[in-house]
Amino acid sequence: MDEVMRILVLGADGYLGWPTALYLSDHGHDVGVLDNFARRGYDTELGVRSLVPIASFEERIETWREVSGRQLASYVGDLTDPQFVSAAVAGFRPDAIVHFAEQRAAPYSMIDRAHAVYTQTNNVVGTLNLLYAIAETDPSIHLVKLGTMGEYGTPNIDIEEGWLEITHNGRTDRMLYPKRPGSFYHLSKVHDSHNIEFACRIWGLRATDLNQGVVYGQQTPQTALDPRLATRFDYDAVFGTVLNRFAIQAVLGHPLTVYGTGGQTRGLIDIRDTAECIRIACENPAGPGEFRVFNQMTQSLSVEQIAKTVAAAYPGAVEVDYLDNPRVESENHYYNAVHTSLEQLGLRPHLLSDTLIESLFALVEQHRDRIEPEAMRPAVQWRRQSNPSSAIVA
Ligand code: NAD
Repeated sequence: MDEVMRILVLGADGYLGWPTALYLSDHGHDVGVLDNFARRGYDTELGVRSLVPIASFEERIETWREVSGRQLASYVGDLTDPQFVSAAVAGFRPDAIVHFAEQRAAPYSMIDRAHAVYTQTNNVVGTLNLLYAIAETDPSIHLVKLGTMGEYGTPNIDIEEGWLEITHNGRTDRMLYPKRPGSFYHLSKVHDSHNIEFACRIWGLRATDLNQGVVYGQQTPQTALDPRLATRFDYDAVFGTVLNRFAIQAVLGHPLTVYGTGGQTRGLIDIRDTAECIRIACENPAGPGEFRVFNQMTQSLSVEQIAKTVAAAYPGAVEVDYLDNPRVESENHYYNAVHTSLEQLGLRPHLLSDTLIESLFALVEQHRDRIEPEAMRPAVQWRRQSNPSSAIVA
């Protein structure tokens, strides 16, 4: 790294925000960490918890100081509070802001009206407050925003990195890639992308929208330094990501639960590559007025392929169960997503390997006594407008 940057990480108490903040700090940057602990609140609401115990935000920050000698400036508050956001941005004066701080579970947003409204208000209003805070404080602050590959859905054409050149009735323009997402959560990210692109166009802000694939894995070199630095590992049907859930099911000797035929193909990324992509994006900022989109994924696999890969890596016998799909989504579709920009900037991906999957099995064994198998049963049905909260993890 040539230059020390000031980087404010929003959502730094979460699954990805915490290891990314440590990674950036470990690379010599001055890092601020912000959160409102909404994620810990969803655990209480749903009656679930991370497989791996996680320390409090304060204890994490203090442990990092002990272990690395580096300070993290801490901001506790809610992005939907405009005064708080402006004060945090003006107080820390970052060169870059990494924005992870949203409600991120598709099933959570599909529970009922209240959860859909909460998700879109939290995500869209939080990001809008942030755009205003950047514009008012210093438009040269680079916004690095976490979007998702789910914004695109599964179109029957190649997925480009955010933009598409279209020729219509003999005229050509470069337009935002058309989006057809599959949940109110994913839609909140689409709305964010449009708001950010608009702010770049009218105020000259600079932004990188990272359309990230489904993340797997739990450890990074920094979180492995002390158990109090561990990040969360979710496996429940609402917040758990698919590969993490399959690892638990394999260890418990339960069938891996594939929704529908399992032909749904998704972009994936290792948690260590998430942190590296963020570093690359921060250290190579978008230009003034530029709305840049990178597809932050390293490979694509169908849900059935993921299940078979986990089953093959497990030393014992593993069955795969095909459940009625609670979601409304295509199960057999074309999927070809471009993801070259981050690799061109230097990303050297960790592709899914047996070693990584075996490390997840070991992690699950270590915390086996904390597993609540009933939390993995899908209870949120896309077609139902109201899923009683009590049914979610009943
Ligand atoms: P997470 O829920 O573990 O972390 C998000 C953090 O943001 C939480 O600590 C939460 O308390 C905080 N937060 C939420 N709303 C806030 C608000 N209004 N004010 C302040 N803090 C708030 O989620 P994650 O898995 O770490 O995901 C981080 C980001 O990456 C999300 O934007 C998500 O959409 C995106 N993403 C994640 C994945 C994945 O597989 N985990 C995949 C694609 C994209």
